[in-house]
Amino acid sequence: MTREEFDQGRAVSWPNFVWSELACPHCGALAWNATALETIQAIRDRYGRPMWLSSAYRCPLHPTEARKERPGAHASALPGDFAIDVVIHGWPAEELADAAKQTFLELDLTSDSGRPLIGLGRRQHGPRARRFVHIDHWPEGPRPTVWSYDAPKEAA
Ligand SMILES: [Zn+2]
Ligand SMILES: [Zn+2]
Repeated sequence: MTREEFDQGRAVSWPNFVWSELACPHCGALAWNATALETIQAIRDRYGRPMWLSSAYRCPLHPTEARKERPGAHASALPGDFAIDVVIHGWPAEELADAAKQTFLELDLTSDSGRPLIGLGRRQHGPRARRFVHIDHWPEGPRPTVWSYDAPKEAA
């Protein structure tokens, strides 16, 4: 998506997000389409609180992705895919995770058996400003998957 397309859609479709928090910090690109942006806005609407993003799109050349065996959810450019890390502390991470799951159900982002095709990761230890909930739509993950960074097994 170009910056111009983002700005045109923003007022109506994703008013709570700005380009600078979503685009790759390394090159300034944003590979998501409108569906992805509408999904994160729907999560935000259901959650009903501000969402501070510490990470969103990262291109495959972003240092964090480049050192992985293969790029992860944050680097996906497939239609509808996205991954966001939402800084959260002093407030139950459960509420955001539940809002995200409900949104996936509402938007029919589900498996054949009706489960939300969501990736949910949580880091709720360490410095407060570094506690976050990772939410993604990345069906090739595979999904659904829930993990905790407290017991690392999958890098976000
Ligand atoms: Zn980049
Ligand atoms: Zn993440």
